[in-house]
Amino acid sequence: MLRMETIQYNLPQSHIPQAWYNILPDLPKPLAPPLHPGTLQPLGPADLTPLFPMALILQEVSTEREIEIPGEVRQIYAQWRPSPLIRARRLEKALDTPARIYYKYEGVSPAGSHKLNTAVAQAYYNKQEGVKHLSTETGAGQWGSALAMACAFLGLDCKVFMVRVSYDQKPYRRALIEAFGASVTASPSTETESGRAILAAHPNSNGSLGIAISEAVEVAAKDPHTNYALGSVLNHVLLHQTVIGQEAIEQMSMAGDEPDVIIGCTGGGSNFAGLVMPFLSRKLKGKCHACLVAVEPAACPSLTKGRFTYDFGDTGHLTPLVKMHTLGSTFIPPGIHAGGLRYHGMAPLVSHVLNLGLAEATTVQQLDAFAAGIQFARAEGIVPAPEANHAIAEAIRQALEAKAENKPRTILFGLSGHGHFDMQSYLDYQAGKLENYDYPEEEIAMALAGLPVVP
Ligand SMILES: *Cc1c(COP(=O)(O)O)cnc(C)c1O
Repeated sequence: MLRMETIQYNLPQSHIPQAWYNILPDLPKPLAPPLHPGTLQPLGPADLTPLFPMALILQEVSTEREIEIPGEVRQIYAQWRPSPLIRARRLEKALDTPARIYYKYEGVSPAGSHKLNTAVAQAYYNKQEGVKHLSTETGAGQWGSALAMACAFLGLDCKVFMVRVSYDQKPYRRALIEAFGASVTASPSTETESGRAILAAHPNSNGSLGIAISEAVEVAAKDPHTNYALGSVLNHVLLHQTVIGQEAIEQMSMAGDEPDVIIGCTGGGSNFAGLVMPFLSRKLKGKCHACLVAVEPAACPSLTKGRFTYDFGDTGHLTPLVKMHTLGSTFIPPGIHAGGLRYHGMAPLVSHVLNLGLAEATTVQQLDAFAAGIQFARAEGIVPAPEANHAIAEAIRQALEAKAENKPRTILFGLSGHGHFDMQSYLDYQAGKLENYDYPEEEIAMALAGLPVVP
């Protein structure tokens, strides 16, 4: 009889983490503070109250190592958590590699990605503080659908500004957002001052995350009953994602294995941080030796080619200034299909960790990312989100390197979501219509020249 090999390492519902893990108190150096966009002075909690509930503002600056997950949020997490850790045995065989490859799969959430981990928490705290409406932006549509679902569960209204290029490319994501009861507006729109200003200068603008953020922030800032929610970048968002890494630590130990390398794709940095920060905590204590690798698109290389400095989070310059790896807030990335990775900046926390030498970064071209995604799908049966293909490309590269060296290597990567709403991009790839984009050097130089001057 064939001996069964373990494929899935599943945890019972009772093992959903009790607390989120905050790495800030464990880092060797503190984060640079966010600055007020007008005064350039460090931001106080009061500056953020027009946008966020106090509970999230306090989490943003918290130095508590553990922040308890409210019971109602854990209960909703139980709809799809703990998410599975899967050993990619069929991919290992296809690559004929001595490496062991594991992936933590967040595509099992009803919204199809990791974004729901923070969407539920954010909707919960807003509801607790009496907020009735949330406004937000979405690039590829994953964040918009996650927040729309969380708002449906918690009884809040939700308004989503969707980047124009995705609005046109991904009508089914839009349909999903609307099915959950939220409203969707293509950005740039005529509904806000920031949107009208962009349209006046560029009537056919494809939009960008930076522009959509300006629109969503403007709506929240002008209406006392509306708050703003962001799907990545901020400390509290990364914090909520740490359920991923905490579960993965337990699951890797069930597998009797220790990662040598941990890989995640990075747009704003949240799924990467969620997976790696709990491992980094162990690494800082000498209990883990894994290399932590962030993977970004060659067309939008904030970590590898950006400057580590203060910049605005949005194009309209309504947000605070944060210290991060940035390509300049006016940079509009090429229209690659990994919409969730088209952001000019990076989470300050991920930027800081990289700057301290605790993690590294690399880039992948669009065609290589899709080739990896197809190879993965044929071996493992999951069609990945185009964003996650970047992590897979690096995992495959590492597995082949281990093969060339004829040495074992344990690779863990984050499979941040499935690609079921991205099938048009797979059609285009298979038809040979996708292209690689060169690093847009001139446009980035121009955007960097416009960086704000901070004394
Ligand atoms: C949004 C998204 C990303 C990129 O955002 P991060 O904040 O860097 O995680 C990656 N993968 C998927 C599936 C996404 O939805």
